[in-house]
Formats: sequence, structure tokens, C-alpha cells
Amino acid sequence: MLIVMRHGATADEVQKVVSVIEEMGYQASPMPGAQRTAVGLVGNDGRVDASRLEGLPGVQEVIHVSKPYKQVSREWRPESTVVKLAGGVTVGGNEVVAIAGPCSLETERQVLDSARLVKEAGAVILRGGAWKPRSSPYSFQGLGRPGLKLLAKAREETGLLICTEAMDPDGVGWVSEMADIVQIGARNMQNFSLLKVAGRCGKPILLKRGISATIVELLLSAEYLLAEGNYDVILCERGVRSFDTMTRNLFDLTAIPVVHKLSHLPIIADPSHGTGLRDKVIPMARAAVAAGADGIMVEVHPNPEEALSDGAQTLYPDQFTQLMREVRIIAEAIGRRVAEPAAVGA
Ligand code: PEP
Ligand code: MN
Repeated sequence: MLIVMRHGATADEVQKVVSVIEEMGYQASPMPGAQRTAVGLVGNDGRVDASRLEGLPGVQEVIHVSKPYKQVSREWRPESTVVKLAGGVTVGGNEVVAIAGPCSLETERQVLDSARLVKEAGAVILRGGAWKPRSSPYSFQGLGRPGLKLLAKAREETGLLICTEAMDPDGVGWVSEMADIVQIGARNMQNFSLLKVAGRCGKPILLKRGISATIVELLLSAEYLLAEGNYDVILCERGVRSFDTMTRNLFDLTAIPVVHKLSHLPIIADPSHGTGLRDKVIPMARAAVAAGADGIMVEVHPNPEEALSDGAQTLYPDQFTQLMREVRIIAEAIGRRVAEPAAVGA
């Protein structure tokens, strides 16, 4: 439930609403807005009797949030969330961000070369996994903590921001110490204890849609993060399992406008895992930006044939450069612009 205060309501009036909510046995979270303050009521399972709150001085209206993913819903927060990152980079505003880099971090040379080439093409955030969730225990599992050092070096050299995955609570601690965005991967979307830890880590979270998760399940998983107090959440459509084997996953582009309607959180698209096929990544990345994605996440490697994971869906450097050229034109056609690396490190 959301208690919307009148324009100009005093701090005492807001405080009174907070105390009444707490007396009723719920938690209150005041949210000052540009026009007026709202006080969120959480901790209830069903409908709350609002009669005590409606009559309090300064209260304009009480909105019952009908969605189970309350704080994530647009009912809760009508204006879009803009996640602010270092160097003035934002996700969820007018800018479209490109997050690019290899699937796995492999060597210092590979990480630094990747960083330089994705920056040159126009990415503002470097991606790459130090820990990899692999279907087989015999596949390359990632470099672990030394991989984070390579990312730190790449950031120092290029000014690119860093997005990398944490797979367990210890990983959240290490990743959140160094990275600008902590990625929670598809396989962990419903690892609720991990989500709770991530929600408390103090860094923005990139939450990828689970392999067979519905959109509502994605939003409910994001709710775990917001419920811990972290509003800096970026969702990511990365395709879901389907009956068709022509592509690795079924890249659900419809999820982008659907999520934008249901939630104030930004959503980006990952056509690399979404399609699994290099030559399908470019058209689907273009389509994602046209569909309103707040960013794209694309796997790029200096030499995809030598990649230790996901080589078949990884772009060659010149393909990524071409994609970025096209994406700039598409963004402009819909009144947006692509965030440029010049803004990084400022
Ligand atoms: C990744 O981004 O490298 C990754 C493993 O993605 P997902 O969790 O979507 O499979
Ligand atoms: Mn990958």
C-alpha cells in the first residue's frame, strides 16, 4: 500500500503516517518525490485496512498496490527508475548503454584487449565472468578472484565500468567490492538467499531472467532486492527455454515493453545468450533497442574461436563495431541516444 501525501505536507505529518504504520505492525518507507512524498507500507500479506491512515493530516490518497511485486511495480513508483553509475553513466533514462566483453575472463591479454576494443566501438561497461555457471562440471569454471584483478586493471586503463557475475554469497562480497554492477545470472534468479545478500551489498544489481522464468517471476525476484533496500536494479532479458532447437533460447523481445509497463525498473537485452548464434546476435540486438531496451549486453572476444566459453555466440570485434554504428541510428530514431565512452571516468 502506498500513502500519497499532499503537496507541501510537513515532515511531522509524514512522520505521523510512519508511526501509525509501525503501530499497525507494518514497515514504513518514506519516499520523497519531486512533487510530493509517498510513504510505502510493506510487511502485509493481504489487504490492509487503511481507515486509520486515510484521515491523517497531510494524506492525499491511499493506493492499494494490486501486484505481488509491490515495490517493483509502476503502481508503487510511476516514474522510471534511473540507475546512476560512476562517471555519469545512467541506465533507464534517455541513454541506451552497451555492456560488452567476453563470456569468461581468460588471460590478462584477453581482458585488456577486450576492454580496449569494446570501448573503441562504443561500449561503456565491460562484462566478463570470473565465475562461470557451466552446465558441465568439467567445462572451464572461470579464473575466480584473480579474474576480478584483471577487471580492475581494465577499468584503470580504459575507464570502462565493470559488470561481472557473483554466484554465491562470498562472491557477492568480492564482486561488490570491485565491480560497478553485480550480475546475478539466469541460473540464480530464484536463489532467494543469494538475492537477499545481493540486495544488501550496496551496489547496483543486474538481474537476468531465469531460463524458464515467467516475467512475473522475474519481477518477484527483483522484489527480493528492493525489499532489502536496493532500488538500483537493472533487469535483463536473455531468452527462455523453448521447444524449438534452432536457437539456444527463445529471445523474448516482448518482455521489454511488458516489463516497462508493469515496472519502473530498467530492462536491458542480452541477444548473445538469447540466440546462442553469432549471426543472430546483431539483428536481435538491433531489434531490442528498437523495442525500447535500456541497454544491450553482448559477448565480444578479440578471437572468438579461442574463447573458453560461448565462442559460437561471441561477436568478432569488427561485428561489434558495426552493431554499435547501427544501434546509434536506431536509438536516435526513437528519440534516445547511445551512451558514449567519453562520458566514462569523467
Ligand atoms: C553470462 O552473462 O555470461 C551468463 C552466464 O548469462 P546467463 O546467466 O544469462 O546464462
Ligand atoms: Mn556466456
